[in-house]
Amino acid sequence: MKPKVLVTRNIPREGLIELFQKCDVDYHNSNEVLPKRELFKRVKEIDGLLCVGVRASEELMEHAPRLKVISNYGVGYDNVDVKAATRRKIIVTNTPDVVTEATAELTFGLILAVTRRIAEANSILKSNTPFRWGPMQLLGFELTGKTLGIVGFGRIGQSVARRAKAFGMNVIYYKRTPRDKSVDISEQYHYKPLELLLKESDIVSIHVPLTKESYHLIGEEQLSLMKKGAYLINTARGPVVDEEALVKALKSGHLAGAGLDVFEREPHIHPELLELKNTVLTPHIGTSTLETRTAMAKMAAENLIAALEGRQPPNIVNPEVYK
Ligand code: NAP
Repeated sequence: MKPKVLVTRNIPREGLIELFQKCDVDYHNSNEVLPKRELFKRVKEIDGLLCVGVRASEELMEHAPRLKVISNYGVGYDNVDVKAATRRKIIVTNTPDVVTEATAELTFGLILAVTRRIAEANSILKSNTPFRWGPMQLLGFELTGKTLGIVGFGRIGQSVARRAKAFGMNVIYYKRTPRDKSVDISEQYHYKPLELLLKESDIVSIHVPLTKESYHLIGEEQLSLMKKGAYLINTARGPVVDEEALVKALKSGHLAGAGLDVFEREPHIHPELLELKNTVLTPHIGTSTLETRTAMAKMAAENLIAALEGRQPPNIVNPEVYK
């Protein structure tokens, strides 16, 4: 008998061909999130969960006694209770690497949109304001020669750094473990403790995963350390930044602007972030390219199949389940 699998949301079908061949797939082919009751009903007999945009809580695991693997559709897996999964010997996997370039591109898009006021200018023209050129109109902030501070210097942080170099920026970075062999610290990028990075950067871009440690890593105190007129970009996870404190810093003029793809209480957006002119907001579209979303589907399916076939999946998050 084929193993039973639930795919919780519609993702590019091209990535799921092998999954359909090898498994008995319950495919929730919709962009709507499954209501909790419905979700819990549909996990009852599954062996594998391809977890797209839902919370894999301990409660869900209690409703899925046969569950062997949770394959998360995303590199960030803060939506999965990994500790509970490990206790139950459930394998958890994610989709690193394939999301890196798309997310770095969006990050750079937000940097440009907010500093060069592209989104604001677009709104002005589209609201039927007559076209007017003025030498002092919509003056922005030039990137060349400025300092970009990257908080979290892993795959995406380093990819953003490469783009910043192409724009003639200086790059400094902060991460939990200051230096390791995977980071090219040669002459290109310089490590700084967080406090110094915040003081020295013209733009701060966040690229840490959401964990207990990184929750509100950027709060009122950290925002106050940033230069007056600096910008904050967050394409990592909303709760890493204290949104209330960010709104205050933007309203007071201490920060010149923010580019945000993620929010503290998604899908809710702080109403004042919506009203402020100096914010550019996108609805969590970091990985939203057809290429990346397809690659993520393939990778998530491969992880799931490997686990169900008794092989160690390539992108396992909790290898300790095998101990
Ligand atoms: P990664 O390669 O694991 O890099 C994470 C970096 O953050 C590492 O340098 C790590 O340093 C550092 N770090 C971890 N915890 C920290 C802490 N408490 N304080 C300071 N630094 C810390 O991950 P990635 O692939 O770049 O992805 C980063 C995050 O981006 C994901 O977890 C996800 O939440 C988010 N993301 C969002 C989107 C979107 O759609 N907007 C798309 C993709 C990813 P160490 O080496 O010291 O651990």
